[in-house]
Amino acid sequence: MTVKKIKGIGVSGGISMGKAFYIGKEGYAVSKRRINAEDISEEIYKLEDALIQTRREIAQLQKTISQSLGSERARIFEAHFLALEDRVLIEDTISRIKNDRVSAEYAFYASIEKYIDVLSKLDDDYIKERVIDIKDVEKRVLQKLLGKKKLDLAKIKEKVVIIAHDLSPSETASLPKENIVGFITDIGGRTSHTAIIARSLGIPAIVGMQDATRKIKGGDFLVIDGTKGEVVVNPPKNIIDQYKIKGKARPKITVEAKWVKAKTKDGKDITVSANIELPEEIPLIHTYGAEGIGLYRTEYIFLGKHDLPNEEEQYKAYLNVAKVTKPHSVIIRTMDLGGDKFLSHPDVPREISPFLGWRAIRFCLAHPGIFKTQLRAILRASKTKNIKIMFPMISGIEELKQAKKILQECKNELRKEKKTFDENISVGTMIEVPSAALTSDTLAKESDFFSIGTNDLIQYALAVDRGNEKVAYLYEPAHPAVIRLIKHVIESAHHQNIWVGMCGEMAGDPFFTCLLLGLGLDEFSMPPPQIPRIKKLLQHIKYQEAKEITAKVLTLSTATDVEKYMKDALKKILKEKYHEIME
Ligand code: PEP
Ligand code: MG
Repeated sequence: MTVKKIKGIGVSGGISMGKAFYIGKEGYAVSKRRINAEDISEEIYKLEDALIQTRREIAQLQKTISQSLGSERARIFEAHFLALEDRVLIEDTISRIKNDRVSAEYAFYASIEKYIDVLSKLDDDYIKERVIDIKDVEKRVLQKLLGKKKLDLAKIKEKVVIIAHDLSPSETASLPKENIVGFITDIGGRTSHTAIIARSLGIPAIVGMQDATRKIKGGDFLVIDGTKGEVVVNPPKNIIDQYKIKGKARPKITVEAKWVKAKTKDGKDITVSANIELPEEIPLIHTYGAEGIGLYRTEYIFLGKHDLPNEEEQYKAYLNVAKVTKPHSVIIRTMDLGGDKFLSHPDVPREISPFLGWRAIRFCLAHPGIFKTQLRAILRASKTKNIKIMFPMISGIEELKQAKKILQECKNELRKEKKTFDENISVGTMIEVPSAALTSDTLAKESDFFSIGTNDLIQYALAVDRGNEKVAYLYEPAHPAVIRLIKHVIESAHHQNIWVGMCGEMAGDPFFTCLLLGLGLDEFSMPPPQIPRIKKLLQHIKYQEAKEITAKVLTLSTATDVEKYMKDALKKILKEKYHEIME
């Protein structure tokens, strides 16, 4: 028997298994709902009704277009009608309802997906173009069958693997994580938001699978290997057993029973802290022994809401995180909206290149009211004395000065109102735009610390969209250009006597720990589950040795050479521990 395996980009390691729970592009889910024999005619009636309603809807659209743009233009709906009246499609759907005893929506979804699959494979450009129309029919009919209701994601009650073309950050945030054993998406790269959240929660995930939503149906049983980036669909029992054994054999770095300070083998203190996005991640900082929070992505508070959270709501959220993190500190990053995280607000239009557009500090400086509300809330929470503020996407000194001026205004207001805050609060700059990295000597004079955001720094330095699986092979943290930028930032910071951390995903990747240590990085902030591994690794590396390895790396000219050199160096250092610590 051949086993159906699908490959993608493994972005959160581990093996898990469960039923596929499909989330459609429009936020609807089609799961394999079983029906009883007496419900068959009701389901067929529902199908026919949905097809009739869709036909009416398209006819109305056709009429409107014909009146405004002429009858020739209105012919664009011909493929819609052909699909809606296709006997093979309708009979196949009815046969699934009758013979497989599944709901109308699942039967229709399975039949039309098969239909789309066949058409997409035909060597005919005209037919391939019609696939878009047929997908539109699919969406419209499913909306009718599912009652147009958006899926209430919180209703997922069993252990499932979420499968979607893409998940918006607000969808990912609202999923009931305790019931999710895996994530699979058609698009995305190592640093797209689904990947980041999956890693933070320690849930296996594979992105950039291209057409997984076509090949996998809701209800299929899936085994996912997030380390290898492999999904097995409906495997037989012996294969499931093999994966179970493999899952158990995977080396696990156990969390030290008592809290251990991160140190190199020759005794250099390093700060290893956590990145958090969602409230459910907050307890993980203790579970995994983080020395505070190096990046709190506050924009998640703003997503998927009709009204923006007011000062009081934000104050409570920040105060809670600060209290839980004590005695360590929390770096609160002001909202990084735009890019791939959008407000559902009519005043914020969609852009052609959002990663290069109205994002993060640019958006905040253009909306001083929204920005000030957040800054006031952060300042008020800072009475706990363990909060630091950090501005994202700074591209030059003027932006940093403008942001600091607004912060100053907020401090003055609070003083007048006799509200307490930390008068000595540290203000840091995220270095994630190449222009900021290259002018970090100037920025260091106006900053109390730096945190390097490699997720963006890499995408902007190498001109590679961080969420596009098609160019994921070019997204190279080991590229000499990236390493040189990081080196320059660290040197600028140290020259100005300020500390420098890194909160991009590179900081939690054990392949780069030695290099970053050798470059002089002071703080490593990462998804909480990575912390024990990085702490353990640091215990095996001498700072002096890391500096020598780094000096050699700086002479290499390609990412491949860097990776190979680093791997060999780590094998020499770790010897028989290599597999346990690195995999
Ligand atoms: C980064 O860019 O590296 C970063 C940490 O910020 P985000 O991933 O939220 O863009
Ligand atoms: Mg960033």
